[in-house]
Amino acid sequence: MTLSGKHAVVTGGARGIGLAIAKLLAKEGAHISVLSRSSSPSRNPDHGASDFFRVAADVTDEGAVRRAFTAYRERFGPIAILVNNAGMAESAPLTRTPRGLWDRTIATNLTGTFLCTQAAVGDMLAAGWGRIVNVASIAGLVGAPYISAYCASKHGVVGFTRAVAAELSGSGVTANAVCPGYTDTEMMGRAIDNIMRRTGRGEDETRALLARDNPGGRIATADEVAQSVLHLVTGSETGLAVVIPEPSALP
Ligand code: NDP
Repeated sequence: MTLSGKHAVVTGGARGIGLAIAKLLAKEGAHISVLSRSSSPSRNPDHGASDFFRVAADVTDEGAVRRAFTAYRERFGPIAILVNNAGMAESAPLTRTPRGLWDRTIATNLTGTFLCTQAAVGDMLAAGWGRIVNVASIAGLVGAPYISAYCASKHGVVGFTRAVAAELSGSGVTANAVCPGYTDTEMMGRAIDNIMRRTGRGEDETRALLARDNPGGRIATADEVAQSVLHLVTGSETGLAVVIPEPSALP
């Protein structure tokens, strides 16, 4: 199916995985609105015909999210596609996880996903068609040490996705999650720096360790996460949590 003329909102679409998703959906013809804290209303001069319309907002701020979605509608009309990708990751052992880190992580990754979904889903229900894709993580499906807040938030995102899919079943609106393992972005770069600092390991060794723990035994790319999102946006499955790289995928 073509996405020509459809309006897609990508949160955290200014860099990393979100930018790859925004570019791919734009290539397929969608109008793209981008939400992140650092962006300001502007067009992406590099992008050509399909503009990225950017409004700065923090996904944890309900009023700012509402205002941003109002601005998106004024620019491109009702929202047909929402990709909840904005997120943060900080690691700490359980006993040294400050309350602030816990609250910030849940607010950004989980509550932000809820607020943006609420802000967009009315348009989709009114149209009888909509696609919600939440960028969770492999940490939304399995546990891992030193990331209890992140893991809890992403398990929450997967649970939220499944609940939305069940509730909206038959409405024409689907909700799915993608669950990437380590993916080559600034976020992964920060994780590598952190591990190197704490363990004294070199960068190659650290990358190899992360690759070994990843599904498929390798680091994912932002582009392959974007391809998976596109597949879910153009398909009709709902309630899925898609692991990336596929455990059986060849490098
Ligand atoms: P980056 O740190 O590179 O990008 C994160 C994006 O989210 C930025 O555009 C950032 O913009 C935005 N963002 C962060 N906090 C907020 C906020 N409070 N309000 C609005 N926007 C916000 O991360 P990635 O591209 O690597 O990650 C994207 C998603 O993929 C995240 O949800 C992450 O958890 C998930 N993921 C990443 C993996 C990886 O290894 N990279 C693996 C599995 C999942 P700004 O700072 O300007 O607000």
